[in-house]
Amino acid sequence: AYPEHCPPDVERLGRSTWTFLHTTAAYFPERPSPGQRANMLLLLHALPTLYPCGHCAEHLGREMERRPPDVRNRVALSRWLCETHNEVNERLGKERFDCSIRSLDERWKDGPSDGSCG
Ligand code: FAD
Repeated sequence: AYPEHCPPDVERLGRSTWTFLHTTAAYFPERPSPGQRANMLLLLHALPTLYPCGHCAEHLGREMERRPPDVRNRVALSRWLCETHNEVNERLGKERFDCSIRSLDERWKDGPSDGSCG
């Protein structure tokens, strides 16, 4: 495995970024203010120019033109991000994730009902 103390490779950077983005979406307000919506759009639209993996950023930019971010509320944003991540999964030959809000909340907000995540 790639040593933990080394700069992130594309995989580790990806896992960390998805963790940040899905968690931020999971805690986005049910009724965001216009300012919260605008800031989320700024955050997402910054990625295609700033994300430090050139070909990843390029693909993301094209995907965001095809399917613009949906920042109406927490559920809409979580689903949009899940579908965006699934597009990458598909391209890389990884499994698709179930984008129901129940599965997303279990993975990124509440943990499984067996309490195994505390
Ligand atoms: P990851 O895909 O990193 O997923 C982490 C965890 O998220 C999974 O274990 C799972 O529990 C959960 N998850 C999986 N799918 C979903 C979903 N749809 N919705 C919610 N949760 C989910 N790598 C490349 O090689 N080429 C690229 O072009 C590329 N583009 C990228 C673009 C972006 C914007 C980002 C953030 C990353 C990109 N990556 C790319 C990295 C790639 O997506 C993975 O992060 C990396 O390959 C590590 O994969 P992983 O199997 O550990 O799980």
